[in-house]
Amino acid sequence: MTSINSELIINSEILRQNISYIKNKLQDTSKFMAVIKSDAYGHNILNVVKDIDDLVDGYGVVRLDEAKEIRNFTSKKILLMQGIYSEEEHSEAAKFNLDLVVHNKDQFNIVKNNIEYQNLWFKINTGMNRLGFEIDDFMEMYHEYLSSKKFILMTHLAASNDKDATSNTDQLKLFEDLSCKMNKNVKKSVANTGCIMNFPNHTYDWVRCGIGIYGGYFKDDEIKTAMTLRSPIVNLRTIKKGERVGYDGRAVAKKDMHIATVYLGYADGLPVTIKDGTPVMINNQICKVFGRVSMDLTTIDVTDIIDCSEGDWCEFFSETLPISNIAKSNDLISYYLMTGVKSRVKKIYKTID
Ligand SMILES: *Cc1c(COP(=O)(O)O)cnc(C)c1O
Repeated sequence: MTSINSELIINSEILRQNISYIKNKLQDTSKFMAVIKSDAYGHNILNVVKDIDDLVDGYGVVRLDEAKEIRNFTSKKILLMQGIYSEEEHSEAAKFNLDLVVHNKDQFNIVKNNIEYQNLWFKINTGMNRLGFEIDDFMEMYHEYLSSKKFILMTHLAASNDKDATSNTDQLKLFEDLSCKMNKNVKKSVANTGCIMNFPNHTYDWVRCGIGIYGGYFKDDEIKTAMTLRSPIVNLRTIKKGERVGYDGRAVAKKDMHIATVYLGYADGLPVTIKDGTPVMINNQICKVFGRVSMDLTTIDVTDIIDCSEGDWCEFFSETLPISNIAKSNDLISYYLMTGVKSRVKKIYKTID
């Protein structure tokens, strides 16, 4: 029996093109860490690692389970970007030869006696106020324990997508000033995707690149969306001027219209907050969401579409319809849409040959 379903198609050739493009922006000294937390932003962590391993220098994950899952398939560096939270996690991490972020004193107390310091990435708070040592506390610790050690100094920018945000210059200056006080073996890492693109002089020794790989970065058309979310039309109807479509009658027809109903709703990961007028694509023509997203269905205005039938695909994002479009027009971020696609959507992974 075949049954219809919505599909999430992931094209690893696009992941590879995005990586190569972004690597060209780096300073010669910079190594490329692919951030693959949260199932590679919804792209399937294991498939992604297998298909990009030759292009990258390491991986960034958050959960120990993610690191363990990929360790058999790569000999490259794997960084636990939030470090460990217990002695048990620490010994597991050592067994799998992982690098660890150390972002507070509790974590340092766990790692300080029994690990090579060159696996440690000390995270400094330069203004995001989420994780990381305060600069003064870190200097104290540095003089007591670290002044002759090899390690990596890191921080994270709060507004890297916004080239003009003053917080970036403030954070980068604090980091630069601090790093000048470190011994010459200390390596440095600041840049996520936005920082690579907007501040390419600050790629230092390691970049930690996530969203750019998957094509969710919105300010450069060379970077392509690697996943396609599509759903078949299951019903077509005409409605008269003045009629309403969907829950709460949110969408009101200003003229006679054709409405396509597609087999994807918020239980598949399309946010219920998607607005009327959000562009989608049917048979290579742009058309617009019309009516509130339901649990299992979404309604589309296909009045101006030539040729559309039940069974035709409606694309919500794809290589030609960037995921950042739908994100921006709905006050969302592409990270959220990528990681939100639910398990009942059929996943198809187009691997490299
Ligand atoms: C997720 C994450 C990144 C990747 O950020 P992108 O904006 O997706 O490139 C980099 N560094 C840290 C610490 C992260 O948690």
